[in-house]
Amino acid sequence: MPSTILPDAECITCGKVFKNSKGLTRHKQYVRRYNLRHQGFNELPANTIAEFKQILITEIHRKLSLNFRSMGKKLVSLPCPESIFFSVFGGYIHYYSSAKGIYKCIFRGCDSYHVLSTILNSNHWGKKVYSQNQQTYVVCLNNSPQNLSIIEEIDPLEQLLQSSIKHKKINRRPRFLRGEILIEWKKRTFKEINGIVNIAGYLNFNFYIAQSCSY
Ligand SMILES: [Zn+2]
Repeated sequence: MPSTILPDAECITCGKVFKNSKGLTRHKQYVRRYNLRHQGFNELPANTIAEFKQILITEIHRKLSLNFRSMGKKLVSLPCPESIFFSVFGGYIHYYSSAKGIYKCIFRGCDSYHVLSTILNSNHWGKKVYSQNQQTYVVCLNNSPQNLSIIEEIDPLEQLLQSSIKHKKINRRPRFLRGEILIEWKKRTFKEINGIVNIAGYLNFNFYIAQSCSY
């Protein structure tokens, strides 16, 4: 069936595809609104934000293991106040629902590593160097170090999914693809039997990792 989707009706940042350019224009208007500072948020001290970025980088690095059997999809999940999430990722939010209490940012394309380096104030946020020049890194499209022999272990099921998407056998796009980074903030509610309701916000940082080695 021929596709009626025009190539220019896709958001280059989050990859959301629209039936026409009007849909894309509306999406861009929403994005602008999502990224306006909420009235309830105060400006946070710069050192608080810097400290939180450092916590996030530390947790990402803890996932960058040397064991090539543990390559693939990873998740860093951290309790995170909404105001801190907004201070770090405001400007990059491409989905927001106040009813569900969810924000989403998706980073795709070869520039995404660089963009996140700017956001997190660190060039090494997504790579860890081991002895003998082995390196484990967050996969961003086209960011694989060049002139290095790449050792990559991709889960066969994941490989099948990626190729099905590439060959348009699956219409519904998964939440994020290999080479993309999906960052979400979600409100979670925990109800206790005595009627107490606890609510906490969590930052979920979803990514893929791979390994390279130079001899
Ligand atoms: Zn978008």
